[in-house]
Amino acid sequence: MKAISIRDLSSGYGGDPVIRDISFDLEEKELLAILGPSGSGKTTLLKTIAGFLPAQSGLIKLDSQVVSSPQKIVPPEKRNIGLVPQEGSLFPHLDVSANISFGIRRNPKKTQRVAELLEIIDMKEYAHARPQELSGGQQQRVALARALAPTPKLILLDEPFTAMDTSLRAQMRRDIRNILTLTATTAIMVTHDQEEALATADQLAIMQDGRLIAFGTPHELYEKPASQDVASSLGEVNAIPATVESEHSVNTELGTFVARIMGDAVLGQHGIVLVRPEALTIEETDSPNAKITGSVFHGHDSTVTVSTNSGMVLKVRESQQHDRVPGTLCAVKVLREGIFLK
Ligand code: ADP
Repeated sequence: MKAISIRDLSSGYGGDPVIRDISFDLEEKELLAILGPSGSGKTTLLKTIAGFLPAQSGLIKLDSQVVSSPQKIVPPEKRNIGLVPQEGSLFPHLDVSANISFGIRRNPKKTQRVAELLEIIDMKEYAHARPQELSGGQQQRVALARALAPTPKLILLDEPFTAMDTSLRAQMRRDIRNILTLTATTAIMVTHDQEEALATADQLAIMQDGRLIAFGTPHELYEKPASQDVASSLGEVNAIPATVESEHSVNTELGTFVARIMGDAVLGQHGIVLVRPEALTIEETDSPNAKITGSVFHGHDSTVTVSTNSGMVLKVRESQQHDRVPGTLCAVKVLREGIFLK
C-alpha cells in the first residue's frame, strides 16, 4: 500500500513555484531521504507535504486521500503527520515524559504510551530529566518519540542531525533507523549529506534547482545513475570522454574497458563514461598515461589527483598508503565497470 503519492506537484511561497513537477510514491514503512544541495527545494517539499504550503499544481495523497491540490488543503494538524525538527526543539520547562506526551495530553492511555516509547528509545531512566540535562543525541531521540506518540501515518525529519559531530551522527542514524523499524513507521528525512542518505534510506529522492532529478534505491542510483548530476550527488565521480566499442565496453584515453551502456546508445556513439575514484588504480610503469599532481590523506584512505597525457584531471582513491610524489609518471587503470552516458 502506498503511504504517500505525489503527482506533478509544484509549490512555493506565493510567486513562481520553487519546486516543480515532483512525482513519486513511497510504500508504507519505507524511509525516504530527500538529498540535494542547499536551496534545491528540500524543505519546501517537506513543508508542502506537512500542509504548511499549498500545492500550486498537482496533488499529494496520504493513504489514498487527497490532502493537497490547488482546490484543497487539509490543515497540518489533520494530516496525522509527526514532525522532527532540527535540534533544540524540546520544551525546556517540561521533563522527558511530559515532552513525549505533549501531543497526546488528553489521551487516557498516555502513561502507557510514554512508557512504551521510553523503552523504544532506550531512555527509561531519563523519564524525569529536563532537556538541558541530555546530550544532543538523546534530545533528538526524545523529539522522535514525541513525534511518534500519536502513532502518525508519516514522520517528517528535517535535517535531524545537522548539529552533531561525525561519530554521533553515525550512531544516531542507526538509532533512528531502528526506532522507525520497531514502530513500523513511514518516514521522510531531508538531508544534504550523501553518506547519511546512502546509509540510512530505503529510497532516495535527489533534488536540484527545485526538481526531482532521480528517485530510487540507494543502490540503483549509485550503481546506475541516469545522469552525471545524479552520480555526483552521491559522491565524487570522474567523467571521461568515451566512445561505445561494443555492447559492454567503451574506448577512452585510458584504453578500452567494461562499461554499462545506458539508454539507447549505438556503437561508435560519443559520450562520457562515469568512473568512481575507488574504481581507478595507479601503477608505476614504463608506459605512463598520466602524471601525479597531488594527494590528500583522509585517514581511512587518500585521494590522489592525476593529469592524463591529454590534460584531463582524474581523482583516484587509494585505501593503502603510498608515497605519491607530485610529478611522478604513472599508468591509471580502470578496475571496475563504468557507466556510459550519451
Ligand atoms: P533547501 O531545503 O534545499 O535548502 P529550500 O526549500 O529551503 O531549500 O529553498 C528553496 C528556495 O526557496 C530557495 O531559493 C529559497 O530562497 C526559497 N525560499 C525558502 N524559504 C522561503 C520563504 N519563506 N519565502 C520565499 N522564498 C523562500
